[in-house]
Amino acid sequence: MQQEKVPTVIIVGAGPGGLTLYHSLIKNKDKKEFNVKIFERESGPKDRWQGYHIGFKSQGFKSLMNCIPSSVALNLPKAIPNPVPGVEYHGTSFSDHEGNLLLRPPFKQFKNIYEIAEIPDHFLSGTIAYRDRLRDVLLENVPVQWGKKLVRYEETDEGVWVNFDDGSREFCDILVDASGINSPIRKQKIPELQINDIGTTHAVASAVVPKHLMDRLIKVNGNSVIQKLLGLNGDSTFIGLRLIPIEQEQNFKNKNNSDELHYRITMFYFYSSELDNEEIEKINNNPALVVEHIKNMIRKLRPECEMTNILLELWDLVPKAVPKESEDFPFKTYNPIQLRKVRDINLLTINSWTSSRVTLIGDAAHAMSPYLGLGTTHAIQDAEALSQALLNYSPENYISCIKEYENNMLKRAPVDVLKSRYATIKQVTPVGYFGLFIRNSILKTTNFLMKIHDSVKILDLVKIH
Ligand SMILES: Cc1cc2nc3c(=O)[nH]c(=O)nc-3n(C[C@H](O)[C@H](O)[C@H](O)COP(=O)(O)OP(=O)(O)OC[C@H]3O[C@@H](n4cnc5c(N)ncnc54)[C@H](O)[C@@H]3O)c2cc1C
Repeated sequence: MQQEKVPTVIIVGAGPGGLTLYHSLIKNKDKKEFNVKIFERESGPKDRWQGYHIGFKSQGFKSLMNCIPSSVALNLPKAIPNPVPGVEYHGTSFSDHEGNLLLRPPFKQFKNIYEIAEIPDHFLSGTIAYRDRLRDVLLENVPVQWGKKLVRYEETDEGVWVNFDDGSREFCDILVDASGINSPIRKQKIPELQINDIGTTHAVASAVVPKHLMDRLIKVNGNSVIQKLLGLNGDSTFIGLRLIPIEQEQNFKNKNNSDELHYRITMFYFYSSELDNEEIEKINNNPALVVEHIKNMIRKLRPECEMTNILLELWDLVPKAVPKESEDFPFKTYNPIQLRKVRDINLLTINSWTSSRVTLIGDAAHAMSPYLGLGTTHAIQDAEALSQALLNYSPENYISCIKEYENNMLKRAPVDVLKSRYATIKQVTPVGYFGLFIRNSILKTTNFLMKIHDSVKILDLVKIH
């Protein structure tokens, strides 16, 4: 009897989505075997700085654990360190412009990161991961073919030809586009799908913060690892932090002439693009000018108060030039400051979506505003859903597998694209003093009701046990 040919899956893009899919297809090979190849345009794992702190929701963690082998799972605490008990609060807090707490949903806390996967979805628990380290962890045992930039594909009844900018080409049965927001595959497959500019600009940067400044931030704004400060005049701040002291390199200590503990934070400053007098493209390659621009916006949009002073000091700590060696930046996790328009992709704006041998996961399909920190979670959920659907692959029914995955993704991701968009736009809409009173009252009441609801649930649990 002739043996069935092992089908080939090509993944383009070695970000969190593409790498998770690779692991999952290999992990499931006893159930369905694929010849999996992964191509990345970067020349190697250290070609580009790999990002800042990113939000990570419990659903994403659950999918990740389902997809990766135990050898990779063991290394996850390097990328998502275990909580520091009693020191960090894993969840989001919303404060007003002065740092007064408005809402801190009672997220279920966990002792170690593997417990996140056990938390029921409705708790929406979340934490902060280090994107650069997550990528390193996910690269383990993945034979990425580096320096391979896809430029075009050709789909036939038999399969897909994938063309790279070095003139080489590869053939596969299924092509998975995991190449992020500027995907050339999406532009070819669905040319009518637009990337939206949502009318908001954001700057994002990481900083190394000395303990005395961190203590001031915590005193005003609490110890949540995800902190959102809602503005008054059309601005909003998002801070992602871990209260884990950075192990400092000797040269950093010498440079700063101090033994004081330091922590790393990532900050986003969002504001309405209409408020920009500057053409941001003229300054966004100059970190010092971007920092000055953001500090000017903070002074213009925020009232004088301790929280504003803290924000100005935090933005002052952002590196103004690329360190010569990554080792010069503690934790080796420098990432350049970025000043950009917030953009997203809503698949539901197109009338037809033809399932074929070419499919999309992650930001390539549904890039979203970073305000709710859901991008990585969805990329990983897509990887799980696609690998599950492909378990039923056969040469005759591949389209139904792709359709099954795409239906799952279309039900889940576009909703969060819109939620993230509207949350961002809402936060950069000036509220005025009356609006501020209404908004703050609603959030404080919600906070009160959530606490009561949570206490009732705890009482119920006590009764049951
Ligand atoms: C360098 C980098 C830093 C980031 N930093 C942050 C951050 O700090 N905070 C945050 O919230 N989000 C960040 N993001 C975005 C966030 O990681 C993604 O929203 C999310 O993880 C979705 O992942 P993804 O795998 O779908 O796409 P991405 O993470 O965008 O990965 C796409 C990969 O495809 C590769 N690629 C692109 N085009 C081609 C091509 N033509 N051929 C071959 N390969 C290609 C890219 O080089 C990249 O490695 C960052 C993304 C990148 C690429």
